[in-house]
Amino acid sequence: MFAIGLDLGGTKIAAGVVAPDGRVVVSAVRPTPVGGGVPSVLAELAEAAQGVAAQAGLAVGEVEAAGLACPGPVDPATGTVSYAPNLHWRQVPVRELLSARLPWPCVVLNDADAAALGEAHFGAGRGAELMLYLTVSTGIGGGIVRQGELLTGAHGAAGEFGHQVIEPGGPLCRCGRQGCLEALASGTATARRAVERLRQERPSLLQQLAGGDPERITAALVGEAAARGDSLAAEVIAETASYLGIGVANLVAAFDPDRVVIGGGLANLGKRLLDPVRQLVRREVLPPAGERVEIVQATLGAFSGVVGAAWAARGAVSCS
Ligand SMILES: [Zn+2]
Repeated sequence: MFAIGLDLGGTKIAAGVVAPDGRVVVSAVRPTPVGGGVPSVLAELAEAAQGVAAQAGLAVGEVEAAGLACPGPVDPATGTVSYAPNLHWRQVPVRELLSARLPWPCVVLNDADAAALGEAHFGAGRGAELMLYLTVSTGIGGGIVRQGELLTGAHGAAGEFGHQVIEPGGPLCRCGRQGCLEALASGTATARRAVERLRQERPSLLQQLAGGDPERITAALVGEAAARGDSLAAEVIAETASYLGIGVANLVAAFDPDRVVIGGGLANLGKRLLDPVRQLVRREVLPPAGERVEIVQATLGAFSGVVGAAWAARGAVSCS
């Protein structure tokens, strides 16, 4: 039977009808409503779920369950989101609210955890015994999957890989601390470092690509400039890779995973990002963990959260 996956972000909502083999049969993306508070976001989520079901021509009884990937820590027992700064949410009982609007059983889980589950079952993590997943985009999130099941920690807060301190006293992080991996190796941090270097008035292709407006510099643009041979952009990417490598090395030393899957927008940099991370992990982590771990790019792209949320929903229904 089919399940519906929803992925709620600060700017957009992704929805999909997902087959048991992980295929996204029908998908849709719509903007996250702003200004209407919790009720308007929940209404939009429910509409997105029903919209994709209708588009796939499914009757209510042909959908087994719906899963929602949500930013912030989620209490696995109640489906309550404790804190999601992007949405200005605190202690929102999302599962209860979504269940009231949909005809299917609902589960709610953290968005990085959902993406980790998606990759573990249907993407680059297939067959791994212990997989760590990192999403590197605006921020850095993570998830841990062992033998196909999420490890969420004693308080549901495991996998916050972006908030390990890499450089004490370093740049300020969104979490209020300094020198977190997220503040050094995320897409936002990469763009910021590129802008800082441009201020030193070094010539770079980036100026031209951004039309002379530093506000328009993104990590993707830095990647493009690096691919076209720009030395300033290549240095910035190398720095990002080196910070990320330290973060991943710490995780490999702590968990001894057989696979680390890197997703999110920055993973599109491919070998330019991953090769230095692999080298640093081999060099810095004691064998056998550092020698044997595989570090690979995620394969499900933007719908990993949708696929993982649908998988979690189906699993929760079949357990109950
Ligand atoms: Zn932080």
